[in-house]
Amino acid sequence: MNIETLARPGIRGLTPYQPGKPVSELARELGLPDIIKLASNENPLGPSPLAVAAARATLSDCHFYPDGSGFELKAALARHLAVEPARITLGNGSNDVLELIARVFLGPGVEAVFSEHAFAVYPLATQAAGATARVAPAHDGQRGLRYGHDLAALREQVTPLTRVVFIANPNNPTGTGLHAVELRQFVASLPETTVVVVDEAYFEYVDAGDYPDTVQWLADFPNLIVTRTFSKAYGLAGLRIGYAVSSTEMADWLNRVRLPFNVSIPALEAARAALEDTDHLHRSVALNREGLAYLSRGFAARGLDYIPSVGNFVAVDTGRLAAPVYEALLREGVIVRPVANYGLPRHLRVTVGLPEQNRLFLQALDKVLSA
Ligand code: PMP
Repeated sequence: MNIETLARPGIRGLTPYQPGKPVSELARELGLPDIIKLASNENPLGPSPLAVAAARATLSDCHFYPDGSGFELKAALARHLAVEPARITLGNGSNDVLELIARVFLGPGVEAVFSEHAFAVYPLATQAAGATARVAPAHDGQRGLRYGHDLAALREQVTPLTRVVFIANPNNPTGTGLHAVELRQFVASLPETTVVVVDEAYFEYVDAGDYPDTVQWLADFPNLIVTRTFSKAYGLAGLRIGYAVSSTEMADWLNRVRLPFNVSIPALEAARAALEDTDHLHRSVALNREGLAYLSRGFAARGLDYIPSVGNFVAVDTGRLAAPVYEALLREGVIVRPVANYGLPRHLRVTVGLPEQNRLFLQALDKVLSA
């Protein structure tokens, strides 16, 4: 053993999560005055003013540790979701909760199952835990929406060693969603000893009538964990707060590995206020609906294939390797997300922005693609 091999094997082979490029970084590199970031599925309207005021009001109390149990926010969420507070686990973003799940259920000798093109944290958390990933092919367009999760293929990957199945609904970066009937059948088909995580980070944005409200299923499936976040439609990505809803037993296990004060006081209070500000949420969702339709129409008009999305972002096939297109867009002051690391080397993922940002993005794309 030498110092190069000191870290556990799963950690040594890990490639860190690649976030969207921050505006400040591009500003430093290129010195551009006006930069549009449509790269991290953030809410272009920003946070609710009520949430900002609530967070600000906590700052003079920041010599105290937060309430580690998150009592008040859990009570508010419990009312909002019509579940018992003991079913809720709060996290430093829903990413934190996904890591807690991996920590509790995954390790050497067991497996996690997820789809091709699935959210990057699933392979990362699986590998870091030393577990084996089994990746199901996505739909090829024959029986379901191309690039979307294929539930039959996912089911085939489940073995007696599978402890966790990760499903994002809708999925990032594809934006594809699953219907209630098919997803419920899938969950019901799993052995009770396989935990199924339905990651609903974009839940609030989806307005398809057949989109499931899986929190309602918890009474039927003790092996179901639903994760949601305040980072997306609630516009609180920078404060880091998300949550899981599960059986009380699962919540108890997650709580055992949770860091004692994993959610900050401003985040707890902002989230509580954000839940109350339904106007801001509705405005955010309505703006997204329009912007998503605008971008989708824009791609269609240009003959560019895009993956129909139910989230607040859309992946578009640039018709060529997307990395140079991404770089050229940066030089135009537009940050989007290349998704080659998701097995989509020709696509760019674009977050729905404000109307003017969407327009400027398409203008920049035209310039770059015609160069
Ligand atoms: N799940 C999915 C599908 C996501 O796209 C993201 C954010 N990129 C997350 C979870 C994690 O978000 P957060 O930690 O901000 O809640």
